[in-house]
Amino acid sequence: AKRSGKNCFRFYAREMNFQAVQLLKLDNSMPISLDRGDFYLHYQPQLDLKSGTVIGVEALLRWRHPELGMIPPDRFIPLAEENGFITRLGAWVLKTACMQAASWQRHGLPPLRVAVNISSRQFSEPDFVDLVSTTLTGCGLNADLLELELTESLLVSNEQQVARKLQGLKAMGIHLAIDDFGTGYSSLSYLKHFPLDRLKIDKSFVNDILSDPDDAAITEAIIGMAHALKLKVIAEGVETREQLLFLEDRGCDEMQGYYLSRPLSEHDLIGFMKSRETD
Ligand code: C2E
Ligand code: CA
Ligand code: CA
Ligand code: CA
Repeated sequence: AKRSGKNCFRFYAREMNFQAVQLLKLDNSMPISLDRGDFYLHYQPQLDLKSGTVIGVEALLRWRHPELGMIPPDRFIPLAEENGFITRLGAWVLKTACMQAASWQRHGLPPLRVAVNISSRQFSEPDFVDLVSTTLTGCGLNADLLELELTESLLVSNEQQVARKLQGLKAMGIHLAIDDFGTGYSSLSYLKHFPLDRLKIDKSFVNDILSDPDDAAITEAIIGMAHALKLKVIAEGVETREQLLFLEDRGCDEMQGYYLSRPLSEHDLIGFMKSRETD
């Protein structure tokens, strides 16, 4: 290993340079890509466990880069947060999701709540609440059919300002969910100050729910605490029937995951919903 040290270094330097070029390329191409239609949304169905009906979908952003192919959101969202493009991109996601949700009813689907992921930088924009309000009006979507998925880190930053924004959103009738619950901050006091509707159990807990007693205990604790606070609980990343049965047995309200469906194109979502109707 020592002999090849120098070559290794050269290799890494080149590799790093390559990565830097890639990053720069991604950074620069975001605005063009948005204008050209390389960004699009997929929708993953969410099931209400008591009634067995699909009650909502989560909008998940996709980017097909013309040269680099599919770029996963875990890769480009942090970049867009850093370079500030998330403000424009996030506004586009919100508008597109709301427009599509409004159009589903024209396709004869039952009302479906659409959940939109909101990044911290987007939420911290001073006119965020206004943006949501004008988007809903512009799309003709009932506020009751929109849910915003917020992360814990976003909530702990500036409590008073955050509380004011959340109250503004709540007053419109929008649903508020905490995403990736349990993976972020240990302080839970915000749960009683903020007007929230739902906690979303992160898939990292759900994944090992049957094999790891710690993950099972955390999941049970989240469900118990949420219900004590009159919040609903949705589990994400449910892949097997056994996981679903565990969650159902512990009183989890809703679920989302490959076991029900992968994220779907708008066209496939309509097909999915129609095929469930006729079951
Ligand atoms: P997230 O909000 O936690 O979304 C859940 C992720 O889990 C999605 O990955 C989804 O495709 C995936 N998933 C769903 N069911 C299963 C399952 O049964 N098993 C497994 N292993 N995975 C499952 P995706 O679409 O790659 O998104 C990754 C992350 O990117 C999201 O995590 C979210 O944080 C972020 N993201 C996606 N779209 C947006 C967006 O429009 N705005 C913002 N700010 N962030 C977004
Ligand atoms: Ca989410
Ligand atoms: Ca998650
Ligand atoms: Ca069925």
